[in-house]
Amino acid sequence: MEQKKRVLIIEDEKNIVDIIRFNLDREGYEVLEAYDGEAGLALARSEKPDIILLDVMLPKMIGFDVCRALRGEGDNVPVIILTAREEEEDKVLGLEIGADDYITKPFSMRELIARVRANIRRTAMAAPAASADEGMSAGGGLTINTDNLQVYKHGTPIDLTQREYELLTFLASHPDKVFSRVDLMEQVWNFAFVGDDARTVDVTVRRLREKIEDDPGNPAYILTRRGVGYYYSAH
Ligand code: CA
Repeated sequence: MEQKKRVLIIEDEKNIVDIIRFNLDREGYEVLEAYDGEAGLALARSEKPDIILLDVMLPKMIGFDVCRALRGEGDNVPVIILTAREEEEDKVLGLEIGADDYITKPFSMRELIARVRANIRRTAMAAPAASADEGMSAGGGLTINTDNLQVYKHGTPIDLTQREYELLTFLASHPDKVFSRVDLMEQVWNFAFVGDDARTVDVTVRRLREKIEDDPGNPAYILTRRGVGYYYSAH
């Protein structure tokens, strides 16, 4: 039997945890839960869940710090931020610190489960699809090893989130072809991310540039075609 996917919920409102657990359990997921940021971070480290649902306002350690800590340790587990509708800035900040997705409260269980499924599937698909490959030289000292999903710059591994990795490999596998933000939402995000599409793509591109470019303000890999979108420059 296929192993159950494990979802870690980090949320201090017990009634929200209860209803999410009930629904995920019914869908065949194993659910882990934590009611404050510190306990959540400890569980994420010890249990290595397949995905994390992360509230922002949490006792002891806020959600952003939990996500930041995990990314700082090179943990690229998919993270969906649970945010209140009025906290628009949370969405952008969440993306900037490496969250993969966000969902605004109140949300429907159907929407949440669709998002969980989409984010886990993306992770699972990235691995086997490329396993026959020996890796792709992306030029200019950048190498993408599609076997271990690791990107190297001049031989040094770079920590990318799952989404950053997918955006980079997608663009790099179509060098010099320009994609609009809507194209990228469709191809890379699979439209799972319901929000401000343009902003989502822009923030992710900016974060990726900060990691792979020598000079993020004057990029050599991921270039902007003004008014159209982004493309990967063939080297
Ligand atoms: Ca809360």
